[in-house]
Parts: sequence; structure tokens; C-alpha cells
Amino acid sequence: SGAIKTITDGTLTMSTNAEFEPFEYRDNDKIVGIDVEIANKIADKLGLELKINDVEFASLIMELQTNKCDFVAAGMTATDDRRKNVDFSDPYFDASQAIIVPKGSNIKSRTDLNGKNVGVQQGTTGDTFCTNEDGTSDIKVASVKRYNKGSDAISDLINGRIDAVVIDNFPATKFVQKNSDKLVKLDDSLTSEQYAIAVQKGNTALLDQIDEVLKEMKSSGELDQIIEKYQSS
Ligand code: GLN
Repeated sequence: SGAIKTITDGTLTMSTNAEFEPFEYRDNDKIVGIDVEIANKIADKLGLELKINDVEFASLIMELQTNKCDFVAAGMTATDDRRKNVDFSDPYFDASQAIIVPKGSNIKSRTDLNGKNVGVQQGTTGDTFCTNEDGTSDIKVASVKRYNKGSDAISDLINGRIDAVVIDNFPATKFVQKNSDKLVKLDDSLTSEQYAIAVQKGNTALLDQIDEVLKEMKSSGELDQIIEKYQSS
């Protein structure tokens, strides 16, 4: 692997996939969300200007590996598999994979997913769970359809092309809120995960600053306030 990216032009570059409300999404073409607010704090602390690259979720680790960005903030779950390629900050959010189904579906609990056709976001932990990539899932779905955008999976669910969508809990809540006449989120969830910010392997200088910002935001209550703000919006 190559050398760690250096910052020479006063900009701190974050890569993300702005299709993941409330963590990163477009509001009148501006990328906003919980991760953007954290990223702005990091840029402020370093005296740099934040720039955001919006790419597919499945390309984010490669963005880091090819020096396209300084860090990834994308509601990204810190997994052992990803730790082979990147270093993660302290966790900043507890998450899980939620199940969304059409109202009146016969899928009522997690085990009802057995034998069903499920939509996921490509390259996510929901994808890994449903495809049983690591052989640890207790659920055997019939097929997994992968989407680059959660919103496209939701459209297919509404149109009856798939039986369920598996996606992170907080974005799931947002999708269901927007389609509350058609969709429901089950009480059961599939995984237990923690979001963290990713940097290039060995970039301890940046990682220490990021952890410092997260620690300040947690102890001051600011992180909770930001999360609450997006819960009610
Ligand atoms: N938390 C999930 C993952 O890390 C999904 C993240 C996302 O879709 N932005 O794979």
C-alpha cells in the first residue's frame, strides 16, 4: 500500500455516499446530515475547509486506498473485514440492520425472511448479512437484489419486485416515515453494529484528531443533540 495522503491545499476531503438520510443526503443539492456535521467539526479543529466527494458506497474504501480522500464518514460500520484495509475511529453511533416490508406482508419477524427475495444496498453490512458472505447468518433468503441507492430498493419494494428491504435502522425509519401509507419497519432487527469514521491505515495523526473531536462532541452532549435534531426532522 502507498504513502498516506498529505494535505497541501487547505482542504480536508471526506468521501461519502449521500443517499443515506439522516447521516448524509442531499437537501436542495447541498449534502447535509449527521456525518457532515461531525466532519465540519473535524475540519474546524484542523483549520481546513471541508470538501465532500459523493461516490457509491461500495467504492468508499478504495477512495481511501487511492488517496482520493482523507477520511470516509458514511454511516460506515466498523467491521473486522474492513479493518484489514482501513483504520477506524472510536464508534459514534449504535446501529442495526432493520427489515422493511409492505403493509400487510406475511413477513412479521426476522425468521420470516427465510426463502424471501430481499433488497439491500450493495457492499453494505446488510448485503453481507443477507448473502451470508461470512457464513454467520441464521437466515437463508431466496435471493438478494443489490442496489446502489436505498431509495431504489424502496421503490422496488413498493412496486412488489422484492419482498423486503434490509437496511440500517435509522435510514429505515426515514424511508418508512416517507411512505407510511405503504411500508412498515419490523420490530425485529438482524445485527448489532457501530458506525465509525475510516482513515487510511496508519494515519494515526488524523485518527487522533478525529477521536478527539468525537470525544468532545460526546461529552458536551452535542452529538446527542445533533442526532435528536435529525430524529425529529
Ligand atoms: N452501515 C452499513 C455499512 O457500513 C451501511 C452504510 C451505508 O449504506 N451508508 O455497510
